[in-house]
Amino acid sequence: MSWIIKHDDSKCIGCGVCVALCPDNWELGTDGKAHPKKTEVEELGCNEQAAKSCPMKCIIIEEKK
Ligand code: SF4
Repeated sequence: MSWIIKHDDSKCIGCGVCVALCPDNWELGTDGKAHPKKTEVEELGCNEQAAKSCPMKCIIIEEKK
């Protein structure tokens, strides 16, 4: 199974929580917002915790159909 990782830039406040919890797949860009390194993954891993912990709920995980 694969997962699509989506991120709503417009809501991101650049708090860095996702980067702290999931540095494997999240980094802060020069625009001060977080960005996923991969937008499609085979295993959710720490992305799940990052999505749950994002204060703006701007990380959306969808199953790839
Ligand atoms: Fe942006 Fe959410 Fe990551 Fe904070 S936790 S930097 S609001 S995506």
